[in-house]
Amino acid sequence: MHLLKTITELSHEFGTSEYVLGGGGNTSVKDAETLWVKPSGVTLIDLRPEDFVALDRAQVRRLFEAAAVEDAVKREVVAKETLLAARRPEGSSGRPSVEAPLHHIFPQRFVVHTHPALVNGLTCAQRGAEACARLFPDILWMPYCDPGYTLSREAERAIDEYTRRHGCPPSVLMIQNHGIFVAGDSPDDIRTDYRRLMETLRGEYRAAGLECDLPTTPPPNGETDRRMRGILREVLSKDVLQVQSCGPFSPPRGPLSPDHIVYARSFVHVGPVTAASVSDFRHRHGYAPRVFFTDDGVWSVGDNENEARLALMFARDGARVQYLTAAFGGPQYLSDRARAFIENWEVEHYRRRVALEGGRSTP
Ligand SMILES: [Zn+2]
Repeated sequence: MHLLKTITELSHEFGTSEYVLGGGGNTSVKDAETLWVKPSGVTLIDLRPEDFVALDRAQVRRLFEAAAVEDAVKREVVAKETLLAARRPEGSSGRPSVEAPLHHIFPQRFVVHTHPALVNGLTCAQRGAEACARLFPDILWMPYCDPGYTLSREAERAIDEYTRRHGCPPSVLMIQNHGIFVAGDSPDDIRTDYRRLMETLRGEYRAAGLECDLPTTPPPNGETDRRMRGILREVLSKDVLQVQSCGPFSPPRGPLSPDHIVYARSFVHVGPVTAASVSDFRHRHGYAPRVFFTDDGVWSVGDNENEARLALMFARDGARVQYLTAAFGGPQYLSDRARAFIENWEVEHYRRRVALEGGRSTP
């Protein structure tokens, strides 16, 4: 089907590391009855037309008509089950993305949702809302909201209100500490909006005297790397621990977005690594660190190579986003409540597991 071919091409175009990392982001195409959406865990760059999950839009609509379940976690479970039940046989048997209901709300045919570092330099900044209104008066800005069904409901309200006020739906929705949804009736509408966004933001960073990417630094030398790997295996008491490393950069000092938490954890270990420092970290945060920063370089750990690699990639992205926020008043980290919701969120864990285990979904 030619619509699926078109959305697959868009997924590949906006599936590069400038727009998303790991299993993040999602895309969809719709007609009046059916919404084809990216399944959870598959990366945009690897999507094939036959991977899309077909959802019966009449059933997805029911999610918005039902009274909201009080408990946030229960609410996500109900939404997940409704979405699974809305699957049509013509699509794949994958699990629909938790952001699928939000794709349904946009009346436009194509939706491409990503988390670009250049955009998050604004959405994760103290003066993000203000900058968004100044630079992009037509864009709909949403304050941070727990991802998943809760976000879809909030977005529905915001999009309705925008449509009433402007006489047309928004083509771009920017979500604080998260990313953007771009909707359009043609692929070129999507491309035009993305181009405008990225170009304007590059100009803002340049004007603020910032580089758009972190500088590349030399990797730690062989001896330092070997020593650190030994220390990590010892203090984390795992023989089969997988370790990745790269040259030094400034650590992200707090959780910037849901994906950063899922892949690299809310906080990173900074300074010399000892049994005492790791045990102290565990006490403070309730989990073992996944990323370690020293003056010589950055190390990440995981149960498999992909987990370690993704942790390092997201730590670097977090550092880049944090650096870019300087153009808009500095970083605005997620609150403890928002952070705890993600840390406990089963859906996200599922996604990370699929991204880690799926051979094809390796980014
Ligand atoms: Zn997202």
